[in-house]
Amino acid sequence: MGNNMRGAFVEIEGPGEKLHTFQERLQQESPVLARIDTITNQVIPVRNESDFQIKQSEGGGSRQAEITIDATVCRDCLKELFDPHDRRYRYPFINCTNCGPRYSIVQTVPYDRINTTMKVFAMCADCRREYDDPVNRRFHAQPNACPVCGPRLWFTDREGNEVPGDPIVRCGLELQVGKIIAIKGLGGFHLACRADRDEVVSRLRRLKDREAKPFALMVGSLEQAEQVAIISKASADMLTSYSRPIVLVPKRADVSLSRYVAEGTGYYGIMLPYTPFHALLFAEGLGPLVMTSGNPSDEPLCTENTEALQQLSALADGFVLHNRDIERGIDDSVMMENCTTPPDHPHPCSPLPIRRARGYVPDSIRITPPTARPILAVGGEMKSVVCILDGDQAVLSEHLGELNNPKAYRNFVSAIDRFQRLLRVEPAWVAYDLHPDYAATRYALSLDLPTIPVQHHHAHLVSCMADNGLTGPVVGITIDGTGYGTDGMIWGGEVLVGDELDFRRAGHLCYFPLPGGDRAARETWRPALALLRETYGSEWRDWTEKLPMPVPEGAVDLLEKNLEKGRTIRTSSLGRLFDAVAFLLGLCGCNRYEAEAAMVLEARATESSAQGKLHFDLREDETGILQIDWRCFIADLLDAIRSGEPSETLAAAFHEAVADAFVDCAARAARKAGLTRIVLSGGCFANRLLLQKISKQLHDADFEVYSHRQVPPGDGGLALGQAVSAARRVKEKE
Ligand SMILES: [Zn+2]
Ligand SMILES: [Zn+2]
Repeated sequence: MGNNMRGAFVEIEGPGEKLHTFQERLQQESPVLARIDTITNQVIPVRNESDFQIKQSEGGGSRQAEITIDATVCRDCLKELFDPHDRRYRYPFINCTNCGPRYSIVQTVPYDRINTTMKVFAMCADCRREYDDPVNRRFHAQPNACPVCGPRLWFTDREGNEVPGDPIVRCGLELQVGKIIAIKGLGGFHLACRADRDEVVSRLRRLKDREAKPFALMVGSLEQAEQVAIISKASADMLTSYSRPIVLVPKRADVSLSRYVAEGTGYYGIMLPYTPFHALLFAEGLGPLVMTSGNPSDEPLCTENTEALQQLSALADGFVLHNRDIERGIDDSVMMENCTTPPDHPHPCSPLPIRRARGYVPDSIRITPPTARPILAVGGEMKSVVCILDGDQAVLSEHLGELNNPKAYRNFVSAIDRFQRLLRVEPAWVAYDLHPDYAATRYALSLDLPTIPVQHHHAHLVSCMADNGLTGPVVGITIDGTGYGTDGMIWGGEVLVGDELDFRRAGHLCYFPLPGGDRAARETWRPALALLRETYGSEWRDWTEKLPMPVPEGAVDLLEKNLEKGRTIRTSSLGRLFDAVAFLLGLCGCNRYEAEAAMVLEARATESSAQGKLHFDLREDETGILQIDWRCFIADLLDAIRSGEPSETLAAAFHEAVADAFVDCAARAARKAGLTRIVLSGGCFANRLLLQKISKQLHDADFEVYSHRQVPPGDGGLALGQAVSAARRVKEKE
């Protein structure tokens, strides 16, 4: 057997019956990291060979063999790690064929040691023996290493001076006394500190210039996780999977963690140790740690020692460094439980990805039918991810961040280049978002390739179809903050009918003005006041006076002037409606990070239940498009606020009303079009309450409902939809 560019091949001879059994067992008994997509058989002349041999990798041919993910340290390696008699006792780079780094260290294909950052370490005789022995667990484990021949770890002060002694013990002690330590890990640097002390967590916030966005936690064990959060069976499965993502889990009340860890939301983002170093660190007896990405806010992850010492020395009191180079920075993935699908579904309790990176990339997504021409899709502006679709495989890049940051944009450009080389694909077409001001759009148009624009919400719809292996027409509820519409307006509360090729708008949230451009997505009073003015006409100023949260000085006049000029852009964004309602209820005056207002509103809504006390009107306009009208909703909401209804009841009633309106709209569109399949996509579906309500109601009305399970519903999944839609359009053209 051996590897070539098309995958692994096995030459085997014997009686037909036994060959059949072999093939069956191959699929059933393959190692944890193996994923067999297809087996193709070919009859060759009998050679009368009887020994087992592994051939050298063959270069050339087209690339179909996949590079695997970075996987958590396995149980066998952990046992050796803590065994004083093992030659890798306490060795933080222990790994085997079933675990360890892959994607983060590979430089080119085929995946052999010489093509990874491990090539600078020559294996010692002991390691070489394991590597060459077909029955050894480390047979052809490319990053195989030991304390004699492999990478090493050390601790430094903030100036980079090495501190003698055991670096892991030292790191544990420093964390214990409340220090912030920068730790070089698998895919980049983390900043770590104790999660139970206000003083150090708020210091980290100040230094990192990260006012409120929740921090992720790392805990030593599932038991430790259960002490701070409610861990369902599905969440436990995700937490302990070999991908080891951050999992968003409901907080327990009265836990002893600092309130600065994740203020205002109902969830903690928790992960378990995934490198041998993490396992050794928690063996020092630490409690939950804040573990956040080591980078100045919004910039890409630091991956190099010198770079980290420069950029993080103002943030960290000490450093854990090592000399195994990181070829590409890769963030921790973020997942959430998605129990919206019925039990008879082939994937009844699959995760809902929020950020897809370490542990998932570069696993491909199978697409039918295959594309004849390779396609590059460049995604959107925020939560950037690119996709390369070649044949029947769509490969999405890791999360590349927000492209309005110059460093993130440079990283995006070089990531595309490295990605193409790694997959050995020369794209024939490039797909991009319609938004003229997206950096990714400008990049796509600058390439010397034929281009295909894909409307934002159409891309979401197709992304959710591809995620579930669907083809042909569906109805899509696509709800998010911002997407450029075909009429030049900002869309975001859309019900579409469409397929891979094309779509039409069946319904949407009524347009409202969005004064202040980009600031309208941050300052929640802007959409709130605009909605009041649209609802109450000339009397609107009276209604601004008795709100639970004061309107900023001069805002009313400013807005009036802006709106009278009529130059304000109009939007159907559900995200901005969430912002407005959060302001009107006095819960959030400003989005200090993306979707803060929506998260606060969701957290508040889960504290209560509402029985349909608020609603939106649904009517058809003269062109036959359904309009979800918010005017009666706003008026009823304001009455309820004035009569002193508690904000949690109204937050719950708002979720209920939004779900009712979109379900009603989608159901009417589906019946009219004779369709039964409804896909749910867009960033608003990271709101668990909304996702549950909408999918349950649609199930109850006998629709087939599909939500995301392999790629995020937000813009992190956009590129998949762009690529698949473009492939279909290329096919029509050619
Ligand atoms: Zn292992
Ligand atoms: Zn060795």
